[in-house]
Amino acid sequence: VRAAAAQPLRNADELVDSVETFIFDCDGVIWKGDKLIDGVPETLDMLRSKGKRLVFVTNNSTKSRKQYGKKFETLGLNVSEEEIFASSFAAAAYLQSIEFPKEKKVYVIGEDGILKELELAGFQYLGGPEDGGKKIELKPGFLMEHDESVGAVVVGFDRYFNYYKIQYGTLCIRENPGCLFIATNRDAVTHLTDAQEWAGGGSMVGALIGSTQREPHVVGKPSTFMMDYLAKKFNILKSQICMVGDRLDTDILFGQNGGCKTLLVLSGVTTLPMLQNPNNSIQPDFYTNKISDFLSLKAA
Ligand code: PLP
Ligand code: CA
Repeated sequence: VRAAAAQPLRNADELVDSVETFIFDCDGVIWKGDKLIDGVPETLDMLRSKGKRLVFVTNNSTKSRKQYGKKFETLGLNVSEEEIFASSFAAAAYLQSIEFPKEKKVYVIGEDGILKELELAGFQYLGGPEDGGKKIELKPGFLMEHDESVGAVVVGFDRYFNYYKIQYGTLCIRENPGCLFIATNRDAVTHLTDAQEWAGGGSMVGALIGSTQREPHVVGKPSTFMMDYLAKKFNILKSQICMVGDRLDTDILFGQNGGCKTLLVLSGVTTLPMLQNPNNSIQPDFYTNKISDFLSLKAA
């Protein structure tokens, strides 16, 4: 069944007044790569002055919450680390939520953000960028050893991805009894630069799906893990949340899976023709060009 078509946002005050919390996706909503999107500081200030809770959720696992705190600061935005939820953190929070044993280890296919968050949560890990330089020895009879105390493999976006990591992660998942396979996110493409679409975290996750024939447990958007975590942490009703994002299959689905109101902004990857394409079944409640429209869209 096709969902009701998204409506252009006409009266921003009405939407703002109807919720207590705004969850903002980051890339495509707050910034594009390293560039702040127009009007964001003023919009966030306005929402804060109205007493709204603001939360920032990103699927980009390459940085920790602390590293994102610095990025917000560099961009001149007044956002505290407690308001930031990255998929790197979600991986650590998920392991905490299932009481993953501290004596077991996590094998990481991903960048520094995941390592930092695992460390903060007190988990032992191996892998990460360090394994980026490792090669398989192509000599007869070579057998790769792996650590049998690895109880979880976490896969995120990884610019140091290689065959060594695929084989190591695969051995852990296949041979260590009960080993978990966790993905920070499955975004097909990312916007490392504005110039083109780059292969996203879904490509690294896909390699491990291919070799293990197992499905990962996803902790980033659109999975409900972060939504449930946030709702519990801040004691907020999901019906009192508006999820704002630029992607249909991660952000808008995340909001809909959580039972929130949803607003698509066209300042990122989704264009109006993409939203209105008959093959697209994901329809947010509203759409608008960018979040600073909140400052200008008033009831007629
Ligand atoms: N993953 C990576 C590696 C990225 O570079 C990006 C965006 O730049 C994303 C995911 C998507 O991030 P967000 O959820 O903030 O849009
Ligand atoms: Ca985004």
